[in-house]
Amino acid sequence: MILSDIHSNWEALQAVLRHSRGAHDTVLCCGDLVGYGADPNRVVDWARQNQVLVVRGNHDKSCVGLDDLEWFNPVARSAALWTERTLTPENLSYLRNLPKGPVSVESFQILHGSPLDEDEYLVSTLAASQVTAYLETSLSFFGHTHVQGGFVFRQNGVRRIEQTAADLESQVLELEEDALYLINPGSVGQPRDADPRAAYVLYQPQQRRLEFRRVSYPIEKAQAKILKAGLPELLAARLAAGT
Ligand code: ZN
Repeated sequence: MILSDIHSNWEALQAVLRHSRGAHDTVLCCGDLVGYGADPNRVVDWARQNQVLVVRGNHDKSCVGLDDLEWFNPVARSAALWTERTLTPENLSYLRNLPKGPVSVESFQILHGSPLDEDEYLVSTLAASQVTAYLETSLSFFGHTHVQGGFVFRQNGVRRIEQTAADLESQVLELEEDALYLINPGSVGQPRDADPRAAYVLYQPQQRRLEFRRVSYPIEKAQAKILKAGLPELLAARLAAGT
């Protein structure tokens, strides 16, 4: 199972774990365990206890003082400072030592932003096309944009893979032999593709079968915790909008 951008949202993570129970053996994460949400320690404890393979996201870096917060907007900055104050020393140290992507796993790679830069957003087919030369495997999973889907590159060009439709729970993609894939599982804890449901991907390497999934979770609970923690209200509001 491949997750990304959990962002301290324990309610969303729990829903994903329940929804996917029995359907996978290994859990991987394309970064951003923390930042924005109210449960950084619960999420990091979970990752540590379950030995989840995580590549570092830009928020994992910024919330532990590895990056200056200059380029963060005021909302993200105040959440990063709150997160740094709230994390236990053990969890701070765990985040500080996360590997920078890309990290190879069997026949594929996981990374946060792009293969060159964990802070780069691969939003357009043009941006995605410009980094294909740096991909070491025909399948790579990335995050950072919080938009489920990705890109497929064939001889005759690049095509966008759309997110799972709002009225569906899942969408299957059979991987072709000669194509190159950049796949975004979507964000568990703060989706920005206009669908507020938590997003993730199941991947079966032997079958070359990939399944994009969405699952509803108790958004109001995560929102109440954000407000109670004194985090910016916007961070609660955007969860309901999926933006
Ligand atoms: Zn993120």
